[in-house]
Amino acid sequence: MKSNQLVSFITYGCKVNQFDTDKIISNLPENFTVIDDISLSDFCIINTCTVTDNTDNQFFKDLKRIKKINPKIKVLVTGCLAQTSPDKLSKLKNVDFIVDNANKYLIPKVIKEPDNYQNEIVSNIFDIKTFDDNYQNLKEDRSRAFLKIQDGCNYRCTFCIIPFARGRSRSMKVSEIIQKINELYSLGFNEVVLTGIHLSSYGKDLNITLIELLNIIESDTDMPNIRLSSIDPADTSIDFIDSICESKKICPSFHISLQSATDEILKDMKRRYKINIFDDLIKYIRNKIPHACIGTDVITGFPGETNVLFERTFDYIKNSELNYLHVFPYSDRKGTKASMRNDKISDYEKKKRSKLLRSLSSDLKNNFASRFIGKELVGIKEKNNKIRTNNYIDVIIESEIYNPGDIGTVLINKVENNKVFGKIINPQIQ
Ligand code: SF4
Repeated sequence: MKSNQLVSFITYGCKVNQFDTDKIISNLPENFTVIDDISLSDFCIINTCTVTDNTDNQFFKDLKRIKKINPKIKVLVTGCLAQTSPDKLSKLKNVDFIVDNANKYLIPKVIKEPDNYQNEIVSNIFDIKTFDDNYQNLKEDRSRAFLKIQDGCNYRCTFCIIPFARGRSRSMKVSEIIQKINELYSLGFNEVVLTGIHLSSYGKDLNITLIELLNIIESDTDMPNIRLSSIDPADTSIDFIDSICESKKICPSFHISLQSATDEILKDMKRRYKINIFDDLIKYIRNKIPHACIGTDVITGFPGETNVLFERTFDYIKNSELNYLHVFPYSDRKGTKASMRNDKISDYEKKKRSKLLRSLSSDLKNNFASRFIGKELVGIKEKNNKIRTNNYIDVIIESEIYNPGDIGTVLINKVENNKVFGKIINPQIQ
């Protein structure tokens, strides 16, 4: 084996997966260097996502491409597809190693001494009971840090494969979270995004609530901005919203997953709320924090979603307090209850509905941003002449000297062609 080894990474899917990749990188042996160029790499580590067909298909395409570019490269596949479908992966000749989520921590050792490990390292994800990801993303070129504080999910939405890929819900200890956030602040980060597979379940295994955690972060850290990733309406109480309203650190930006705006489909999905609960929640937020950005996820073409049901979802969203959507056409995941139904919706119809909702999302986004023309908003500077405001508007700014990650105030000038333009008026208010 060469003394200096080159390794490249491909990561699909959510922020949690990106976080896991960063953790692997941070634990690589000293003689391993991360590069982007697959043609020069000794290893390629692919961290998969299996939440939809699209991500699976992208992985299969990339796998072929990698071995074509570099036939000698060793490919190690990890992540959610490795956890849920190791048998499928073991039949692929382009895969050299399979290491599932339960054993991800072994990857640095596997690539250091590949001869000492079997080609397939898989075990039962439900055996993992404690949170062991005491690590955060420390990459200097990022404007904000992501801190994974929770993993797994104990629910069983009928379309979702995630619990089988990630196991039971488990949370990072409060003391470790506080320590990590303080470390991030001392390293110069002004914003931390708290992420998890089902963030709203944070603390259920530790006998503490997410509200209590946020209160402790508020009092025990100097981090100026705290952002939350997606939360579940079923676990979001009025008290929770009140405590965010009172916070000086938690960004006024909410991502609350809806999936469908009809009770019939929500019931079939085994979601734990009805549309009126969701609606009351977002109206309450809007009333309490008028400038808050509220976004959601929607699945189109869930089995049994007739045109009439889709239209009801569309009309509800159009007239709601929502400001943007993440739209996903329903994707059959083997082993889920929904995949066994015989009233599937055609791909054509799913695409058509997704297109309609994505166009609606653009309108909602533009309408929301337009409300702030002539107003000043505070945000974090990003790379590429952009500032992301605390209420989640990406504003293109004139090129000015600044450092990504700095806090600044931007004056919103105009909204044009789905883009928001502004001018930095205070580059560093820290
Ligand atoms: S709450 Fe439902 S959709 Fe979310 S991760 Fe758990 S099972 Fe999947």
